[in-house]
Amino acid sequence: MRLVFASNNAHKLSEVRAMVPAGVEVLSLHEIGFDQEIDETGRTLAENSRIKADTVAAFISSQPSSIRRQIDGVFADDTGLEIDALGGKPGVYTARWYLMCDNRCAKGDEKISGSPLHDEMMIFKANRAKALRELAGESNRDCHFKTVITLITNDQECQVEGIVRGRIAEAEYGEGGFGYDPIFIPEGYDKTFGELPAEVKNSISHRAKALTELVKLLKA
Ligand code: IMP
Repeated sequence: MRLVFASNNAHKLSEVRAMVPAGVEVLSLHEIGFDQEIDETGRTLAENSRIKADTVAAFISSQPSSIRRQIDGVFADDTGLEIDALGGKPGVYTARWYLMCDNRCAKGDEKISGSPLHDEMMIFKANRAKALRELAGESNRDCHFKTVITLITNDQECQVEGIVRGRIAEAEYGEGGFGYDPIFIPEGYDKTFGELPAEVKNSISHRAKALTELVKLLKA
């Protein structure tokens, strides 16, 4: 089975490829010639996941049948970090949280544009710094990652989700993973996803749990 993974995030792609069972081939957007930016205009992770899957499914439908025939479907992942003490923020704004000014964030979740930070690693670092700042002096550091995956095939359309609970560390630890991994300590561990081996993250993460549900549906 050949499924397109509707994400431009190379970190997610390599995690997903490491997790899918034999028999499922995961194609990247690059491999199918899709090079557009997808606007994540949804109000929820589920909506954004759906937007990504729909956009890429529409692109695949517009391709010649010789190409369409080689692709069995598309799936998209939208992920958010939800911090209990912040009422579930950053949630749907997890990717660009650092761009949001605290006041507006509290009022209406508006995004502020015009940041000079473009480099992905700088964005990840700025997001982590914001999380540590927002939780300074806060003893309740509980949070979770949630991933919503949307699958669209010729005969199936569905969404599954995966959640991993944990807490935000007091500082950054480790260099593994991506995004918020160096400050996220999964429940039952005393190290961050940035410190734990990739195999551990890939066996307990939000994405792993959502993919497990997805694979069950593929087999059904
Ligand atoms: P999106 O699903 O592409 O919108 O990703 C949202 C953001 O969540 C990413 O830019 C990362 O900052 C963060 N993120 C997503 N997945 C993970 C993960 O597995 N670990 C740490 N951060 C993640």
